[in-house]
Amino acid sequence: MNGIGLFGGTFNPIHLGHLKVARAVCDGFCLDTVYFIPCAQPPHKGTENLADAGDRLSMLKAAVAGKARFVVSDMEIRRQGLSYSIDTVVAFKKKMPLARPCFLMLGIDAFLEFHTWKTYEIFFDVIPMIIMTRPAESPAFSRETAGAVALKTYIQTRIDSGYEYVPEKDCYVHPQKQPLYLYHVPPVPISATGIRARIRRGESISGLVPPAVENYILKKGLYV
Ligand code: ATP
Repeated sequence: MNGIGLFGGTFNPIHLGHLKVARAVCDGFCLDTVYFIPCAQPPHKGTENLADAGDRLSMLKAAVAGKARFVVSDMEIRRQGLSYSIDTVVAFKKKMPLARPCFLMLGIDAFLEFHTWKTYEIFFDVIPMIIMTRPAESPAFSRETAGAVALKTYIQTRIDSGYEYVPEKDCYVHPQKQPLYLYHVPPVPISATGIRARIRRGESISGLVPPAVENYILKKGLYV
């Protein structure tokens, strides 16, 4: 049975970086479905310049419309308040058949702050992760690079010293805990912060977000 990927984020707004890395992971891990899960309120980011949850959800729906194996979940938005991923993971795992592998997908920037997430230790008992590289680490994110060393140090000092890197699998494994897969996605130098800054400066965001998202932003006058 093929697995599913849980891809949470602020998606403020969804951009082509999100879509491209999600597609690469979906294909690379033969996932049946990637769930894009926008948060209601991000615990780690301020609310300045945060578009309304309904707008972020609408943009996501427009962005994934017609895209095979991509689905939007409004679970966190319906829950309201601060969105804690652990609650989302637990809820998804309850809904899914036990045999169906479930992966948490996140960028390396998000992973390197993982110790600040609510009850972060529990994730490593309940769900394998797919850690996706981002441009700051790419294209030379290999075992030898500073980025890879930082990741190893982070995993072994902040998460659990029992994790060991297995090069053949490009994965950190632990005798009792869930594996942490690295996935070297083709670098996509796009961030939502950069997009919001371009809009504020009156610059075009064509080619950074899907056309339907660009139209939505312009029509609603978001991020100006
Ligand atoms: P912001 O710039 O507002 O912080 P963002 O572009 O990082 O936003 P988020 O919604 O916070 O977007 O990201 C959700 C997840 O997607 C995070 O795990 C993040 O690391 C990952 N991600 C976002 N953009 C990329 C990208 N270009 N390449 C790889 N991963 C990405």
